[in-house]
Amino acid sequence: MQTPVMDDGLKSRDATPSHWTVLSLIEWSTQYLTERRFDEARLHVELLLARVLKLNRLNLYLQFDRPLTSEELASFKQMFKRRLAHEPLQYILGDTSFMGLSLKIDRRALVPRPETEILVEQALQLLRASDAAEPRVLDIGSGSGNISLAIAHHVPRCRVDSLDVSDEAIDLSRENQTALGIHNVVFLRADIFGDLPPAGTYDLIVSNPPYVSLEEFTLLEPEVRDYEPRLAVTDEADGLRFLKQIGRTAMKVIAPGGTLMVEIAYNQEEAARRIFAESGWRIDDVTKDFAGHPRIVIARPAIPEPESVT
Ligand code: GLN
Repeated sequence: MQTPVMDDGLKSRDATPSHWTVLSLIEWSTQYLTERRFDEARLHVELLLARVLKLNRLNLYLQFDRPLTSEELASFKQMFKRRLAHEPLQYILGDTSFMGLSLKIDRRALVPRPETEILVEQALQLLRASDAAEPRVLDIGSGSGNISLAIAHHVPRCRVDSLDVSDEAIDLSRENQTALGIHNVVFLRADIFGDLPPAGTYDLIVSNPPYVSLEEFTLLEPEVRDYEPRLAVTDEADGLRFLKQIGRTAMKVIAPGGTLMVEIAYNQEEAARRIFAESGWRIDDVTKDFAGHPRIVIARPAIPEPESVT
C-alpha cells in the first residue's frame, strides 16, 4: 500500500500507529476495488472499516483524520483480501439485516436478498388481515431462517413451520432463532422431493426456492457461484423443478382459502403461470421487484368453475 503523510500527533496510542488514516485508507481501497470492477466499492470499504473500528458507518465521517493502529490495519487488510477474492460482503461481516432483523450469516446459507423482502411484505399484509386466531405458515427452504423469522417476528400470533434439506442451514437458522428469541417457528430438516410436509394445513405457504437454471448458474458472478451454497441457488436443471414440486406439495397442505407465495427468476413468469395452473392454482398476482421484473407469484387454489345452468 502507498504511504500517505503520517499524522505525528498520535504517538500516544497504545498500538503502534500505522501510516493510514480513515480517509486515506477508504480512498485507496475504494480505488483499488473500482479499478478491478467491483460494484459499490466505497460502500463496502466503509462497511468493512466501520466494523474493524466498531463504529457505525456514518461515524467514520466524523473521524476521517483518525490514524489506524497497526492492529486495526491488519484486521482491515484481512477482510479486504476476502472481498478482493469476491467473497460476499455479508459473509465477511458475518451478519446482515433482513426486514429489520439482524441475522447471522455465513456460507451455510444463501445471503438474504432485498427482493425477498417484497415476498415477506406481501406475506405480512396477508397475515395481518387474516381472521385466523393463529395463522399457520409453511416456509419451503429456510436458508438462514430469514423469511420464517421475519414473518414470525412481525406477526407474533402466527405459527411457522420451516423446512430445509440442508443440516447446515437448519443449524444456522436455529442459531438465528435463539439469538432473536423468536419462539413461534419450528425449523425442520426435510426434502420436499421425498419427505411429506408436516401434518395439517397452512393458511400461507411461502418459498424462495433455488430457481436459477444450470445454464444461468455458470454465468453468475463469482460472489454467488463460488461462495453461496450451490443447492440454495440452482436446481441443476431448467430452474423450474422446485416450482413444479412446490405447486404439487403445497396443493396437498394448503388450507381452504389459503395462499401460496413463491419467488421466481426475472424470466420465469410465463413458465410459473403455466406450472402453477397445472397443479390447480389460480394466480392472483405477480409482484414486480425494484427493477420492474416479475418476482413474486401469489396464488390460491383454483375454485372449479360452476356448472353452467342451461
Ligand atoms: N429462505 C432463504 C432466502 O430466501 C433461503 C432460500 C434458498 O436457500 N433458496 O434467502
